[in-house]
Amino acid sequence: MRKKIVAGNWKMNLDQTAGKKLITEIIGHAQNIPSDVTLVVSPPFPHLGYVKKLLIGNVFLGAQNCSDQPSGAFTGEVSAPILESFGVDYVILGHSERREYFQETDEQLATKVNQALASELRPIFCCGESLAQREAGNFVELVTTQITNGLFHLSPQQFSEVVLAYEPIWAIGTGVTASSAQAQEMHYALRQHIAKKYGDTMADNLTILYGGSCKPSNARELFACPDVDGGLIGGASLKAEDFIAIAKSY
Ligand code: PEP
Repeated sequence: MRKKIVAGNWKMNLDQTAGKKLITEIIGHAQNIPSDVTLVVSPPFPHLGYVKKLLIGNVFLGAQNCSDQPSGAFTGEVSAPILESFGVDYVILGHSERREYFQETDEQLATKVNQALASELRPIFCCGESLAQREAGNFVELVTTQITNGLFHLSPQQFSEVVLAYEPIWAIGTGVTASSAQAQEMHYALRQHIAKKYGDTMADNLTILYGGSCKPSNARELFACPDVDGGLIGGASLKAEDFIAIAKSY
């Protein structure tokens, strides 16, 4: 049975006061979402400690990144073991902003995935194509290659801990959402790709989130796609009302 997840990515937003207000509002409404939907909130690192203390039942803690090293002289980095010690459950890896602005490569992401899994963090592994790549027509191959390079070294047991997030770069923060047909096409292709490597049962059980300008007005249609199992939400996760409304769209 696939897990349905609605995960918020706060990115580099909200000071402590605003973060406390947002998480308090989210928790205040979390009982109203369907019991089979898991919420994940992924604040900037300094918020992790107090957010963890406020979480209840179906709300879990995510980080937005982790180091590819377990410890040591890497100023400014945060390792998976440190995140684990703060009670972090999930870690977003391979977000297009990390790939673009911090030159994260597939090889480095594969190492980060290993670090996350060694600390019992579940990776939310992002993949997606740019507009130019979509227009060039070979976007399915491009995105499945990101999965092969970042994840296919994992054992089946390790792979079963992974959550995928398909995030077309042209839809992130732009207000332009993939149509449900475009999302379903890619999610189906990803599941087929995974089935070839890990078998049908693994592919069927894998949670694949859609991300890219998902909001209350389009979540229901996207989540109705047979291969879409929830969303990775950026901008709309910064308003409790919108985030909860998205989670209620199942
Ligand atoms: C994201 O950055 O993961 C994202 C989906 O952003 P937005 O919802 O703002 O498009």
